[in-house]
Amino acid sequence: MEEAVLEEIRTMKPRSKKIGYLLAGTALAAACVVLVAYGGEPPAWLLTSGKGAAPEAAEKQAPVRREILDFHMTDLDKGWIRYTDGTSGVTEDGGAHWTEQASGLPEAAASGTNGPSASTPDGTTLTTIAYQAKDYPVKQSQFVTDRVGWALLSAGTELANPLLVTTDGGQTWHAEVTPAVKDALQEEKQRQQRISREAALYASPEQAKKAMNTAWTLLPDTASPGDIVLVRHDQPGEVSWQGKTYELRPFEAGYFTYLPVPMKTKPGSYPIGDQTLKIKDKKFETQHLKVSKQMESMRQDTKRIEADQKKIDAARSKSEPAFLFSDSFIQPIEGILTTPFGHTRYVNGKFASSHTAIDLAAKEGTPIKAANDGIVALADNFYLTGNTIYIDHGMNLFSQYAHLSKLQVKTGDRVKRGDIIGLVGSTGFSTGPHLHFTFWAHNVPVNPNLFFNATPFQWLKQEPQSR
Ligand SMILES: [Zn+2]
Repeated sequence: MEEAVLEEIRTMKPRSKKIGYLLAGTALAAACVVLVAYGGEPPAWLLTSGKGAAPEAAEKQAPVRREILDFHMTDLDKGWIRYTDGTSGVTEDGGAHWTEQASGLPEAAASGTNGPSASTPDGTTLTTIAYQAKDYPVKQSQFVTDRVGWALLSAGTELANPLLVTTDGGQTWHAEVTPAVKDALQEEKQRQQRISREAALYASPEQAKKAMNTAWTLLPDTASPGDIVLVRHDQPGEVSWQGKTYELRPFEAGYFTYLPVPMKTKPGSYPIGDQTLKIKDKKFETQHLKVSKQMESMRQDTKRIEADQKKIDAARSKSEPAFLFSDSFIQPIEGILTTPFGHTRYVNGKFASSHTAIDLAAKEGTPIKAANDGIVALADNFYLTGNTIYIDHGMNLFSQYAHLSKLQVKTGDRVKRGDIIGLVGSTGFSTGPHLHFTFWAHNVPVNPNLFFNATPFQWLKQEPQSR
């Protein structure tokens, strides 16, 4: 590409001279000619308005102007233009530069229709656009996203460049890809990437659309005491729930927080954002446990228990500000369910606590898998729970594994779903080899059954299957 057809579509002053197009040189036959379209600083000699005098040859030949027949943008970068004289141009930078195609469009470009496209973000037909306080009739328009679109003005416009771009859903239009427009296109590209990454986390594209196209989403919107709800909002903010305030943290295209539903939450309807969280009543069974005098006295060493609790609370108070998993959670061992979640427990006839975990009995030494990807927040020996592991799954969600005979990870380790983190045992306050397994959200224990074979992003589709 030596001699260039240079198109100066840069309007120096709004509504000033209309010589925005000039030919430099005469060769039109070059196979690949760069059209400097509306973008970047044109060389001084190209400027036809203002003080700088343009070369005479150029003056004589200007203005020669081809009419654009139509255009198509494949995505935020790539697109093509066809002129009425049979020539065409392609862009790979959102229209900042157009490369002339002397022999028509490459097949790939001509057939490139992937990516969303509509004439307006809301699907209506764009007939006119306002540019610099004037309305212009539109021949063709195309929006690649809800924010970015292009509009080709009808023939006869005095504008040097009849193909305008918007990055704010059509509120303002630009006749040139200025650095600010370039930045906006770049930002939109990144936003689209965040949207597609987040969309992939939901159960289906329909679910993703449902969750991501509303201001507030509760996943799910019906829960029971002991459950957990994931809240999504389309902007930063916070949520008040059960006397506490939860800050929404940015992740991909939205802002999120987990809301634990404490065991004592009363059934009813609770407003969360512009949504309503319904809490259903749930009856938990009662379990009587007989333990030896020695074991019972063990539970009375409050000093040691308090010291442990401080350590645990500290570990569960710091969490990665992102969801660390992308796949569903798994049950850490097969085991036999001996104590379900939420059992009200009496030890030697006296009320002890609500069992906010599940107990899975298994042979001593059975390998225990990490329920999902995360970071080991704490792997230590405690008085009541024995050898115990807490894994941070991000955004203040932790899984807990207790009474292990052996710890096979240490605090700070990164683990993957299914990694062996330790072995089943009966350390701490335990009557036999089993895994005491639960989840914690913001230091509140929540029902682990909700997580098996699912991620919180999939809770939208159905009511949680509480057991
Ligand atoms: Zn237990």
